[in-house]
Amino acid sequence: MTTRKPWDHGNRTREDRHYGRQHQKLRAQLLATEPLCRMCKAAGRITAATIADHIVPLAKGGAPNDITNLQPVCRDCHQDKSNADKGHRVKRRIAEDGWPE
Ligand SMILES: [Zn+2]
Repeated sequence: MTTRKPWDHGNRTREDRHYGRQHQKLRAQLLATEPLCRMCKAAGRITAATIADHIVPLAKGGAPNDITNLQPVCRDCHQDKSNADKGHRVKRRIAEDGWPE
């Protein structure tokens, strides 16, 4: 079952909306200078990043609008990281373009 919110569409992530305009600007800046997912790169994979992830989570006192607190990650890595942060078991990916449910 998927509950799709009316505003949840397009390629905009919930994060963009949550963190606002300043974050989107920093995200664009970050992805322009470092277009590849940093976590994939560390694992030897080349993947385009689409998300500016907070290295130090805001909940732990990380700076929300500081580019040095942002790292470019792809959606899968971001998902994995969010799941790990919440203490969930990290699900393995289904396919290259498959969406984990
Ligand atoms: Zn990645």
